[in-house]
Amino acid sequence: SFQADVVPQAPEDPLFGLMAAYRKDTSPNKVDLGIGAYRDNNAKPWILPVVQKADDIIGKDPNLNHEYLPIAGLPEFTTASQKLILGADSPAIKEKRVASLQTVSGTGAVHLGALFLQRFYRPNTDRTVYFSAPTWPNHNQIFSNVHLPYATYPYFSTKTRGLDFEGMINTLKNAAEGSIILLHGCAHNPTGVDPTQDQWKEIAKVMQEKKLFPFFDCAYQGFASGDLNKDAWAVRYFVEQGFEMLIAQSYAKNFGLYGERAGCFHFVTSPAPDAANTSTRVGSQLLILQRSEISNPPAYGARIASLILNDPALFAEWEENLRTMSGRIITMRNALRSKLEELGTPGTWNHITDQIGMFSFTGLTEKQVMKLREDSHVYMTKNGRISMAGLNTHNIDYFAKAVDKAVR
Ligand code: PLP
Repeated sequence: SFQADVVPQAPEDPLFGLMAAYRKDTSPNKVDLGIGAYRDNNAKPWILPVVQKADDIIGKDPNLNHEYLPIAGLPEFTTASQKLILGADSPAIKEKRVASLQTVSGTGAVHLGALFLQRFYRPNTDRTVYFSAPTWPNHNQIFSNVHLPYATYPYFSTKTRGLDFEGMINTLKNAAEGSIILLHGCAHNPTGVDPTQDQWKEIAKVMQEKKLFPFFDCAYQGFASGDLNKDAWAVRYFVEQGFEMLIAQSYAKNFGLYGERAGCFHFVTSPAPDAANTSTRVGSQLLILQRSEISNPPAYGARIASLILNDPALFAEWEENLRTMSGRIITMRNALRSKLEELGTPGTWNHITDQIGMFSFTGLTEKQVMKLREDSHVYMTKNGRISMAGLNTHNIDYFAKAVDKAVR
């Protein structure tokens, strides 16, 4: 028999557990700052108007059916995804140095990259993967599943509530040659702290000197600054410097297609005479891995994203929708900081506006987080992270006062 009695009870996923606790709470004042999903000013999920439009167009298309996609996914989706992250005129695309597969959103792209590394990356060497401390918790689980060893590099300074740049650089300088460095393309989760462009240049320099291998996780392009190109700056800089690298791309946040699982994985080869051949060979192995994992990716979300990415008018409308989301979040950052400052809440609050993207690492302790939950029905993760999109003009006063009370 299976002897299922030896299977131990697993702990609940902390984030999804938090969501369940929020749902159970009957207080009319409750505030959900847990999950990283955009909410409008009425705390409701927002269907991007451009996505609604694409949905209507696709719904009326008599030529569509429910057949399988190719193993690598929808071709017009993967090529548009390359252009989006690397830039339409990227030499890497022109020189056919990019192998791309549609994946099960960003999680699937990180997983496919992890699996590919485990199978093919520098066999019989130290293949430690370095994550930022802290990082998106799923990075640990995904890389554990493929049995790659991992370590961390310092990232968040509790003192400044900004980047621990020195700590990060020193750890990179001391990492074994060939180590894999997982980097967040922009809008770092959970801290909201990104390196400046000068800091990225220094990171790239050290990684080149030490022969470290970059894996960019890009889950928030366009969502951080509202500008798709600005948010892709770090990735494009590394490509310009000639790095060979992996990229995981998610369309969950920037299209609001959370449940549709649209994402893309890219392997970018360094410039070399045989780079296009290398890319083809890599692509062929990725197809084998993809076939055994998911056979082929889900079609619907990719169709929506592809329609928008490939149509200039819809694309422009999408950019407008992105500015709506990122703009509302920035407004909430400014409002929260000024309310806490007005209340004279102990501590400094400039980090709320210095950090960018979906999240803010407030610096609230676990004890304060629990107090907020018990006294004020405010739900956030224990590490003090808040999803900025959970704040709106109706609850921000209430939240600021609750924080003030919990901190004193
Ligand atoms: N990577 C990071 C850093 C994230 O924050 C997320 C989502 O929260 C993802 C990847 C993947 O998300 P999804 O699988 O929903 O695209």
